[in-house]
Amino acid sequence: ADTDAGEEQVSGATVIAQALRSQDVKYMFGIVGIPVTEIAMAAQELGIKYIGMRNEQAACYAASAVGYLTGRPGVCLVVSGPGLIHALGGMANASINCWPLVVIGGSSERNQETMGAFQEFPQVEACRLYSKFSARPSSIQAIPSVIEKAVRSSIYGRPGACYVDIPADFVSLQVNVDSIKYLKCCLPPPVSLADPLAVHMAASVIRDAKRPLLIIGKGAAYARAEESIRTLVNCCQLPFLPTPMGKGVIPDNHPNCVAAARSRALQSADVIVLLGTRLNWILHFGLPPRYQPDVKFIQVDICAEELGNNVRPAVTLLGDIHAVTKQLLEHFNNMQWQYPPESVWWQTLREKMKSNEAMSKELASQKTWPMNYYTVFFHIQEKLPKDCFIVSEGANTMDIGRTVLQNYLPRHRLDAGTFGTMGVGLGFAIAAALVAKDRDPRQRVICVEGDSAFGFSGMEVETICRYNLPIILLVVNNNGIYQGLDADSWNGMLKTGDAASVAPPPCLLPNSHYEQVMMAFGGKGYFVQTPEELQKSLSQSLEDSTKPCLINIMIEPQAMRKSQDFFWLTRSNL
Ligand code: ADP
Ligand code: MG
Repeated sequence: ADTDAGEEQVSGATVIAQALRSQDVKYMFGIVGIPVTEIAMAAQELGIKYIGMRNEQAACYAASAVGYLTGRPGVCLVVSGPGLIHALGGMANASINCWPLVVIGGSSERNQETMGAFQEFPQVEACRLYSKFSARPSSIQAIPSVIEKAVRSSIYGRPGACYVDIPADFVSLQVNVDSIKYLKCCLPPPVSLADPLAVHMAASVIRDAKRPLLIIGKGAAYARAEESIRTLVNCCQLPFLPTPMGKGVIPDNHPNCVAAARSRALQSADVIVLLGTRLNWILHFGLPPRYQPDVKFIQVDICAEELGNNVRPAVTLLGDIHAVTKQLLEHFNNMQWQYPPESVWWQTLREKMKSNEAMSKELASQKTWPMNYYTVFFHIQEKLPKDCFIVSEGANTMDIGRTVLQNYLPRHRLDAGTFGTMGVGLGFAIAAALVAKDRDPRQRVICVEGDSAFGFSGMEVETICRYNLPIILLVVNNNGIYQGLDADSWNGMLKTGDAASVAPPPCLLPNSHYEQVMMAFGGKGYFVQTPEELQKSLSQSLEDSTKPCLINIMIEPQAMRKSQDFFWLTRSNL
């Protein structure tokens, strides 16, 4: 029996914690409560870092970012019912981003099931839609193997979220120590190579291209393929374009980066190699008018089901990006092939880049007051350390910020991602700061938030201060979602009716002092309105490594992006 007297006993909570440790889990994020508090305590006792957050959604975002940054899943620990429901947003975001994550959810006691127990909910079923694997161990003895399977499933194949359900009565149940068998840490994902014939074909399609283009996605960043992709770009002199989170796999200032001519590059390329990026909305589905109707796609992905989505590729290379890129390199090295640097294609791209860069510079140098987005990002870019993490969310804040703020290292940009999720910023920043702290304590995390985006998880500022994380929060404040009103217009409008009847839905309170949220918890806060104030506060924040900071940057409430060349650009988020 489970409770034989005289034998050494162990609680379910300890078994869960030990099983997670055996799988090399290093970080657990969550909010404690009945029935999971003991699990968090046991995990911490065994050396897993526990970060208590203020909302399960943010906890889940943080855990998933750890997965993306380290290649091993972070754990999100939540209570039953509503706690688990709040985490679903994080699970969906992780799955859609293809990031590993393990969620551990407490659930109601088994002997009260279907009786209307406290926070009772069909959690295993609820998680199925948001995960690759969702299960409840049948006994305490089954916990180690279910946790091993969850961790392994989260990183094998296409990464994603996994769920393990823990009934409340498991947590305190005592069992005989000898009845538990912990499993060894699962092996790293096996590396798969593409079919050599397909590699051969891909190489010849690339070699015959007139206007080739590589697109580097966050799958390449996750796959740690930076070394082979850099070699490919350098040896073959191919132009490349990073996706938002593909930025930094090769530094943004590499001469072959054609980000400043993105639309032109996509529109005119005749051969496009996709390295860990999907032809979804971010890449305009790979379809005209954003692409040539007969463009040849070469798709490299670890997920067979992804190959052929939206377009029929010329060649598909199923396998690990790093390994497949090395296969391609072998071909090119044998052929001693290089794309001619003086081609018409390179000239077209360089000219377009020059004129676009000039336009951005002009917008940045505008001496208007209040500041516009370009001025703000220009000054931020000037001050940012090259090795910092950049976390960003918001509409224009994220989109314009991405074009100005440079990444020089892989996996150093985190944003709203494939799902376009708002509210991820603070959780991601917390995850990045923890990972940085363990690697290089001088590394800073810069979190660039729109004022609306900041609101989704604003209370995580307390978490940031509690753990004293080296995060600089920049709130680019235009008094609203997309756009807001200045204080005079807002007050004038209120004379015509109550806010719920007359305030435009995108409006937020004008001139909100978000920096005081940071000051409330002992961090440093700045309210800035001019480029000089922005520069000064940013320099001070970067020098002061001892305190988290928030700089509230007021900009023109009606500031918009530069006008786009094509009407369809203004309708998409890019
Ligand atoms: P982005 O948002 O940057 O365009 P996506 O998230 O759309 O990137 O695409 C990432 C792709 O990378 C996914 O289709 C995923 O299956 C793939 N992927 C993830 N890890 C690997 C890997 N190690 N090797 C190959 N492909 C991978
Ligand atoms: Mg805003």
